[in-house]
Amino acid sequence: VPELPDVEGFCRLLRSHAVGQSITSLEVRDPGVIRGLSSREFARKLKGRRFFNPVRRGKWLLAPTDGPTLFLHFGMTGSLVWDDSRAELQRFDRAAISVGGGRLLFRDQRKLGGLWLANDESSVSDIIGEQGPDALGLTGRRLEERLEKRRGALKSALMDQKVLAGIGNTLSDEVLWRARINPERRFSQLNPEERHHLDLGLQRVLRASIKKGAIPRLGTWLTSQRSRPEPTCPRCQQRLNITRVGGRTSYWCPACQPQLAKRR
Ligand SMILES: [Zn+2]
Repeated sequence: VPELPDVEGFCRLLRSHAVGQSITSLEVRDPGVIRGLSSREFARKLKGRRFFNPVRRGKWLLAPTDGPTLFLHFGMTGSLVWDDSRAELQRFDRAAISVGGGRLLFRDQRKLGGLWLANDESSVSDIIGEQGPDALGLTGRRLEERLEKRRGALKSALMDQKVLAGIGNTLSDEVLWRARINPERRFSQLNPEERHHLDLGLQRVLRASIKKGAIPRLGTWLTSQRSRPEPTCPRCQQRLNITRVGGRTSYWCPACQPQLAKRR
């Protein structure tokens, strides 16, 4: 599932292949991914436009042009792929934007993501909705202020895009495991040391993942255990617990992430 690091990777891809280039043609193979306007209008408004520098906001990718700004959201299964082979499009390539010497492909199996166009700044919030500050670089007091706003399980707060933007199910599990904090605990229950570890864990996980353009499946990361039939903690080798937290399947270690705060 695309989270902040994946979208950062798509942003880099767009930057390296499309910035300064004009869109020569557009092919919408599945109008279902074009949101808020017809695919014909979409193609008409973008054709001939030149891409400016893209930016990421949480899990959103914003690609301004000398005309409208293209918004991309990747839902559960979306990705942005660069293709300069002129090969046949694949089954889940929903739209192709020809630019420079190749094509940007919006590939999405489940189609929970999509493509939007905004004509000015005021329509940005209409598309994105209410969104908290980006998780990358959100540290110290600023992070605490955001998390204090949300009651309930800490994991749910981390995943709430209105609290902070960019974190989903897999990243939140990884960060909490790093910080040795149980996903069901509340932010208000954390002692200063735990808050510090949460802060460090969040930025370390984000920075290491951004380098790869995805959450790395290293053996030392919790994420590596997600697809295993008998997942164990990469730190202490205990069998991991798999429970629903905030409606999402959550992996955590009963030894490293105890349910009650350790008395100090
Ligand atoms: Zn453990």
